[in-house]
Amino acid sequence: MSPSLEFKGYALTDPSLWSDLKVTAFKPKTFQPEDVEIAITHCGVCGSDVHTLTQGWGESNLPLVVGHEIIGKVTRVGDKVTEFKPGDRVGVGAQIGSCLQCKQCKSDYENYCPDSIDTYNGEYPDGVITHGGYSTAIRAHERFVFPIPDGIESRHAATMLCAGLTVYSPLKTYGAGPGKKIGVVGIGGLGHYAVLWAKAMGAEVYAFTHDKTKIEDIKKMGADHIINTEETDFHKPLALTLDLIISTRDVYSPDTPLSAYLSMLFVHGKFITVGIPDASDPLPQLHPFDFGNGCLLGGSHVGSKKECLEMLELARSKNVRPWIEEMPMRDVKKALEGVKHNKVRYRYVLTQDIN
Ligand SMILES: [Zn+2]
Ligand SMILES: [Zn+2]
Repeated sequence: MSPSLEFKGYALTDPSLWSDLKVTAFKPKTFQPEDVEIAITHCGVCGSDVHTLTQGWGESNLPLVVGHEIIGKVTRVGDKVTEFKPGDRVGVGAQIGSCLQCKQCKSDYENYCPDSIDTYNGEYPDGVITHGGYSTAIRAHERFVFPIPDGIESRHAATMLCAGLTVYSPLKTYGAGPGKKIGVVGIGGLGHYAVLWAKAMGAEVYAFTHDKTKIEDIKKMGADHIINTEETDFHKPLALTLDLIISTRDVYSPDTPLSAYLSMLFVHGKFITVGIPDASDPLPQLHPFDFGNGCLLGGSHVGSKKECLEMLELARSKNVRPWIEEMPMRDVKKALEGVKHNKVRYRYVLTQDIN
């Protein structure tokens, strides 16, 4: 027991001031025998946090604490917890619950459970609203808690748990590895991880960006080819070349050249979108002509615990480290606005400062 652990965090209280978060107390979920309680030390800042705070994905609960790239120390475990003990360094990502009974949950696809519970702005079975990691503490069922290997610093592990896992899952699922040519569209938080993981897996990487100021960084991340998407007909030399494209774009317009991206895929190549735009911003229209190369278009949703553990092992064994900027939680406004205005290089990590 740790009676001193208070649940409070930097919360949205007025949606018209989306980045002005105020330290606010909240009610945690009822502590269950399978639960782990965690004192938070670090939390990454995800694009999802911005979409939620700006109400781009619909009206959120209020007050609301966001953040789902959480690292901390275990302070308490329930009687039925087998995997963790107080003092362990652990993480929580974008999912904090699921039914644990359905076919998906029983097949290591719990991230596709229809009763999945989001780490914030969701609702636990007891009716309590879920609050994320810009806060002092969190409780989670042990299935949704990840052990962090000793070789990875907390500040590095944090952003792996949403950004890293979201791109690791489709890279793994669709066979990124030696001999494969992988396209990565959009080199931000997610995209930079896609470059790092795909290289660590032994693939050849084609990075697509419209931002010339990132080119030197992308070279250092290890991309084999960098394509400036502002150039006319950038796609033509790569027709029928790529085995897989991971698109992290979370902004589309009706004239986004999606068909140009599909044309770069080899036969049965896959275009997997992991970025989720605002509800008002759908994919551009396609025509069956655009699938003439036999390509497939699909999605992917975060990742499973099994994939997360594999990803952490890859990070440890290949010494993969994300490009991050750390700041205390009180500077969260600066971090959120940096994400919104695409200033971040390439992920912000907030460190605990609430006492
Ligand atoms: Zn996220
Ligand atoms: Zn389920």
